[in-house]
Amino acid sequence: MTSLGTSPGTSPGTPFDLAGLTAIVTGANTGIGQGIAVALARAGAGIAAVGRSSMDETAGLVAGTGAPFLEIRADLGSTEPLAGIVERTVGWSGRADILVNNAGIIRRADAIEFTEEDWDAVMDVNLKSAFFLSQAFARRLLEAGRPGKIINIASMLSFQGGIRIPSYTASKSGLAGLTRLLACEWAARGINVNALAPGYFVTNNTQALREDPKRSADILGRIPAGRWGKPEDLGGAAVFLASPASDYVHGVVLPVDGGWLVR
Ligand code: NAP
Repeated sequence: MTSLGTSPGTSPGTPFDLAGLTAIVTGANTGIGQGIAVALARAGAGIAAVGRSSMDETAGLVAGTGAPFLEIRADLGSTEPLAGIVERTVGWSGRADILVNNAGIIRRADAIEFTEEDWDAVMDVNLKSAFFLSQAFARRLLEAGRPGKIINIASMLSFQGGIRIPSYTASKSGLAGLTRLLACEWAARGINVNALAPGYFVTNNTQALREDPKRSADILGRIPAGRWGKPEDLGGAAVFLASPASDYVHGVVLPVDGGWLVR
């Protein structure tokens, strides 16, 4: 088995180079997924962008980097498309080296009246599909005897409780645990499994919070960096976890939060 350190495009002295590698990024049409897809493309990776909405905007941004781009339409609310996502990517580029499990949803309601529908919808996208897509990706790598990198997009709710988002907190806490379990199972087999835990970022996910003047001011007041995150703030950490620079990093949940957790 080769290590990513000797993979195509990795030139000496540049352990963050992703040239010649292919990354699958779910939920890449907007927000954090789009920011990560563009960062990985800038580092040289071809991007297989997975989601249920048009990827035209992301396709344009990736084209600007010169990296190859493939759009894969899939609804990650079910496990049905997952194996096909890996197969289509490999059919397109001949390889799949990096998987970013980014697609996610949030449903807000008091725990006392939270519905089963809101529980299942969030768990299916945020946790179940992330696990079974990781499984399909890892099966392919292990069969081919190739190394790879999985990056799960966790949350502050992987560490904290939050309020009014019971299935989201359960899913993101679960994703942190799953990151650790998969790291334990696959580290010796050439697959790094890690997670990024964004703090409070300006995306569709946080629109309701940002529109609530009190919640918005309370959140901002607790962020030592003094501002909400922007999707591009995650780019460097994503490239690190996708690249040979992190070959000996396994099972971490890395906060990128403007200092939120240390407050
Ligand atoms: P977003 O703009 O709402 O992005 C969510 C992405 O997931 C979109 O691309 C969305 O596609 C996709 N998605 C949702 N359900 C899907 C489904 N059934 N099938 C396929 N794709 C689906 O919010 P975001 O903040 O960028 O969220 C990205 C990830 O970061 C999520 O896992 C979120 O939990 C996590 N996160 C966000 C923050 C934050 O402050 N924003 C903080 C911590 C963690 P559509 O556009 O088609 O819905």
